[in-house]
Amino acid sequence: MEKLNIKGFLTYLERVDRSLLSLLSHFRVEERNGKILLITEDRRVKEEYGEKLLGCLGNGLMGKVEILLEEEGEEGQGENLVEGLSGRFSFDSFVVGEGNRLDSEVAREVAENPGRVYNPLFIYGSVGLGKTHLLQAIGNFCASKGMSVIYRSATDFSEEMVEAIKSGKIKGFRDRYRSVDLLLLDDVQFLSGKERTQVEFFNIFNHMFLNERQIVLASDRHPRELRDVSDRLISRFEGGVVVEICLDEVTKLEIIKRKLQELKLEVQDRIVELLMEQTSNNVRDIEGTIRGIKLKGVSHIKEKGKRTNDLEKVILYTAVHFGLKPEDLLGNKRSRKASRARQIAMYLCRRLTDASLIEIARAMGRKDHSTVIHGIKRIEEEMKRDRKLSHIVSFLEKHIGDRL
Ligand code: ADP
Ligand code: MG
Repeated sequence: MEKLNIKGFLTYLERVDRSLLSLLSHFRVEERNGKILLITEDRRVKEEYGEKLLGCLGNGLMGKVEILLEEEGEEGQGENLVEGLSGRFSFDSFVVGEGNRLDSEVAREVAENPGRVYNPLFIYGSVGLGKTHLLQAIGNFCASKGMSVIYRSATDFSEEMVEAIKSGKIKGFRDRYRSVDLLLLDDVQFLSGKERTQVEFFNIFNHMFLNERQIVLASDRHPRELRDVSDRLISRFEGGVVVEICLDEVTKLEIIKRKLQELKLEVQDRIVELLMEQTSNNVRDIEGTIRGIKLKGVSHIKEKGKRTNDLEKVILYTAVHFGLKPEDLLGNKRSRKASRARQIAMYLCRRLTDASLIEIARAMGRKDHSTVIHGIKRIEEEMKRDRKLSHIVSFLEKHIGDRL
């Protein structure tokens, strides 16, 4: 077999198709034992450009050109960089229904063709609906195909960056992120107000995007609703595909059944019904309640049901006493009367039921229990000073307490 050297190889390519020469720039070209080796560290370069080049070689050069994937340096030992993934999350364990069908389809497409279909993919929706699950499922899928993947919450990303700056390792930090095939950034709303982090991420984003590496983002809100995030980042976030994730009743039912099976609990209609009623539209809450059943039996969620019922009564009676509707206490009505009645209801919920602050917050239509803590404190303090208030609240406590 005739030996091939670099010069001969180049002349050959030029004759076949000049555009092939530009593909060569992706490789380190070496001559070894009469063969030409095209060497790269990047699996995707090997697959995409390497295959194309090989496909164009005529019979005469078959077997004389080889594409080599060079193992990574010391650290990796040929293993791909995979960080922040938990094997618990997969596409198979994700229950698909109307509210999350688009998300799961798009996520699968991205996992199968990273960097090629939707870049970036931005998933948003409220808590406990499976955003992190989908990000992780994409990550696990790609890692199993040998790609390098980093999963980070925006908060961890930011802390890691600060640490890298402090210890003079910011270049290493940048290089590591830029070089991965897939970057999953979760809870992007926490980039809010972190300017330096945003600049750093913007640069990594651009670099990855230009090199057709995949970026997937998740957030509790649409990119345009993000606060204190630079316009240029928001426009990047919107530049690929943005999908909302929701939970509809039918899917919720399916999830409940699946989770009961996973914990080897019997799927009885009455338990499923109870769970449909007693849990909010939040899969984390559903999982927690089902684990509660596993540990403490069904009576446990019945107690929770009684508490929910009692909370509703406390809110109703308090509203009626002040000539308001229960909705007035749940909404954001700012009149003095409504906000005072709302705080009294919080206080009474705490005194008269054994519901947790979180349960009270939920019953009062609040996302966060800190408003409940604040409301209760206000009433406690003012009752010390204001005898009239103290009198009203004590009366209500007795009156409502007798009726629970
Ligand atoms: P988010 O990131 O949107 O707040 P997560 O992805 O953390 O929500 O989901 C909360 C929990 O619910 C996780 O344990 C996740 O596995 C589970 N979960 C969410 N959606 C689904 C689904 N469609 N099918 C199965 N499990 C789900
Ligand atoms: Mg999450």
